[in-house]
Amino acid sequence: MATLTLDSVKKSFGKTEVIHGVDIDVTDGEFIVIVGPSGCGKSTLLRMVAGLETVTSGTVKIDDRVVNDVEPMDRDIAMVFQNYALYPHMSVFDNMAYGLKIAGTPKAEIADRVAQAAKMLQLDPYLTRKPRELSGGQRQRVAMGRAIVRKPAVFLFDEPLSNLDAKLRVQMRLEIKALQRDLGVTSLYVTHDQVEAMTLADRMIVMNGGVADQIGAPLDVYANPATAFVAGFIGSPP
Ligand code: ADP
Ligand code: MG
Repeated sequence: MATLTLDSVKKSFGKTEVIHGVDIDVTDGEFIVIVGPSGCGKSTLLRMVAGLETVTSGTVKIDDRVVNDVEPMDRDIAMVFQNYALYPHMSVFDNMAYGLKIAGTPKAEIADRVAQAAKMLQLDPYLTRKPRELSGGQRQRVAMGRAIVRKPAVFLFDEPLSNLDAKLRVQMRLEIKALQRDLGVTSLYVTHDQVEAMTLADRMIVMNGGVADQIGAPLDVYANPATAFVAGFIGSPP
């Protein structure tokens, strides 16, 4: 369990600043959903937290530790992406176990953790299959499983459901909600789906052009939009 704190975080690519100073406090076990139009900086923000992009200025902290210069593998964070690249030649078990193997986790413990995650995600019957022998929803669950087995302090999700069809998206949304309840891991979840945001978020952040326009409980944001942009964005049909 952990807190995640972003303090005046900015990001420039070359001379272009794309994140203009974002402050976020994610409390222990809180699930925060970030919404905003394409290109507003959601992925860049997440990638900085994950250590996949450098932070131009400001600080990212996990608990009391500034992680700006900490390697991604040493941040105690797991990230689930939209195109959850699984290793095609590896079984479901090996895909889920891979990160633990690299980290030198003992075999028996790997087996335990994978079994536990597989049960949670209803993947037990598929552990020996290859990714190509799975449905889209099952593959997405393997990607989640790969993150869960690492027991990270912080979960990052970047539009994890956007490649799934509408029906599956609804089902996976419910499953993520259940996982959130069971695991209670501090999470930042990016989506452009407002229903997803409303369903999952303890608090939501509406981003607009590299700025966090508003942070608040979904119903508060909905009822009391802080800016005209938020009003238009939240009020508009998804
Ligand atoms: P979102 O995830 O909200 O759609 P991104 O974080 O991907 O937005 O992008 C935010 C802005 O940063 C966009 O203007 C995008 O073009 C720019 N950007 C993202 N990554 C890079 C990069 N590696 N080099 C240059 N510009 C980038
Ligand atoms: Mg993105």
